[in-house]
This record gives sequence, structure tokens and C-alpha cells, in this order.
Amino acid sequence: MAHTESALPLKNLQGKVAIVTGGASGIGEATARLFADHGVRAVVIADVQDKNGQIVAKSIGTERCSYVHCDVSDEKQVKAMVDFTVEKYGQLDIMFSNAGIRSKSDQTILDFNFSEFETLFGVNVRGMAACVKHAARAMVEKGVKGSIVCTASVVASNCRGGTDMTDYVMSKHAVLGLVRAASQQLGVHGIRVNCVSPSVIATGMATNAGFTSEGIQMIFGPFTPLKGIELTVNHIADAVLFLASNNSAFVTGHDLVVDGGFISL
Ligand code: NAD
Repeated sequence: MAHTESALPLKNLQGKVAIVTGGASGIGEATARLFADHGVRAVVIADVQDKNGQIVAKSIGTERCSYVHCDVSDEKQVKAMVDFTVEKYGQLDIMFSNAGIRSKSDQTILDFNFSEFETLFGVNVRGMAACVKHAARAMVEKGVKGSIVCTASVVASNCRGGTDMTDYVMSKHAVLGLVRAASQQLGVHGIRVNCVSPSVIATGMATNAGFTSEGIQMIFGPFTPLKGIELTVNHIADAVLFLASNNSAFVTGHDLVVDGGFISL
């Protein structure tokens, strides 16, 4: 589906400045492109895959898209990336905190590997918290009633589809907790905080773990009530666009699950 086929009106992000972490590929890349299609004044892509990130930024157009190297697990780099955005574009309206990883192998509790757990939590939990913290500070400082969206997962609210991924399941539950706590605290500033929760898509993260598009259909298809449609990064980008835009002006603390009914079956 072309990005511009979204049901939301075009230009509904007109004039806004957005950051997309993990924007060099997968869900983040699709969302950065959709934000650009929908009229953002500027989008900053923050990632550790420099070559890909620069290619994506160039293809969106360097007049309104910048790439910044930022390892989200390092709070100093997150602050520097947010400062860069505000200095270059004047303010920050939208933070899509999306960067995330999986462990190299599944992590059942019987063979839990604490070193892999530390690495994963550094990105998926500390990184998310650092992005929410510094985005919220930048918004409060400028009086911006912004929108923060985090990428959680269907395994944030239960364990279906991730039973042998203890550390990943734990990290996404933490993202949901972060969104709920921050939304309560930031509402007074008019800042909304939500998350989007995909089921499984064959992005780099999933294919590195051995998943193919066909494999995902075989494993998850029978447990997905909505038939005849395959989840893509564009479906997630559309959900993020809704949460980022004023079309969701009264939505905060919400987990927008995009899974074809997988977790409610
Ligand atoms: P992806 O691997 O294509 O994208 C992840 C991006 O994050 C990559 O560009 C990667 O370079 C970047 N990244 C990794 N570590 C980073 C760090 N320390 N600092 C900055 N950037 C970093 O995979 P994706 O599926 O697009 O993943 C995006 C988000 O979606 C993740 O949070 C993931 O947990 C979540 N998610 C994915 C699926 C799925 O099935 N693909 C399902 C549910 C949730």
C-alpha cells in the first residue's frame, strides 16, 4: 500500500517537527516517510545504522530530514539528539521512540542470560525512558503540547507469540508501564503519551531471528482472526500517524494494538 493511501487527511502534520528513533529501517523508516508525506516541517531520524539512516534521510529530502547517529541506550546521546533537533528546527512536537532489539537467542528463564538481558534492557527500556524524558523536557520548556509515541508489542500486555522470549516480553511490559506513568504525569502540560503494539512483521529484527514472511503467516496466520491481509510496516506507520496527529487529540495512556485480532482470539 502506498503511504499516501492513508485514510487520514494529508498535511495533518503540517508545520510539526518530529523525531523517529530506529528510523533507518523497518517500522521507523516507514513512519518517517509517512510523516514526510503528511506535511511535517522536519523529521530527524536517529539510529545507529548510519549508512541506512543517511540514505533514508537523503531520499526524504535533506531540506527537511536530518540523520543523527544516536545510540538510545546512552542518555547523553539522546539528550544531544533532542538538543540538535530543537536548535536546528526550533522545537519538538512529535517523538516516535521506536528503536528496539531482540536478544540473539530466546531467553527462557531456565537459561536466562543476564548479559544479553542488560544489553536488551539498555535499548528497549532505558533507551525508551531517555527518549520520553528528553522529548518531554524539550516540549515543556517550549510550551509545546506534543505527542510521544513508543513502540511496544503485543507481548507488552500478555505473552502470546513470545513465550520463550522472557527478556523481550519483560522489556515491552516495561514500555507499557512507562507510557502509562508518563501519560499521567505529562497530561497537565497537554503532552500525550501512547504506544503502538504490532504483532509480527518480517522486518530486519524478525528476519535476523530466522523469521520469513511466509513463516510468520504459517505460525501466526491460524491465530489471527482477520484473514486475507498481511501486517506490514505501513499499517503500523498509519497507527503512529493517528497517535502523532491531532486526530487523536483526546487519546493518552493508550496501547494501540495492531494485530488483526491476534491477542483477543
Ligand atoms: P528493525 O530492526 O527494522 O528496526 C529497528 C531499528 O532500531 C533499526 O534501524 C536499528 O538500527 C535501530 N536500533 C537498534 N538499536 C538501536 C540503538 N541502540 N539506538 C538507536 N537505534 C537502534 O525492526 P522493527 O521491527 O522495525 O523494530 C522497531 C520496533 O518495533 C522495535 O521497538 C521492536 O521491538 C518493535 N516491534 C517489532 C515487531 C516485529 O515483528 N518486527 C513486533 C512488535 C514490536
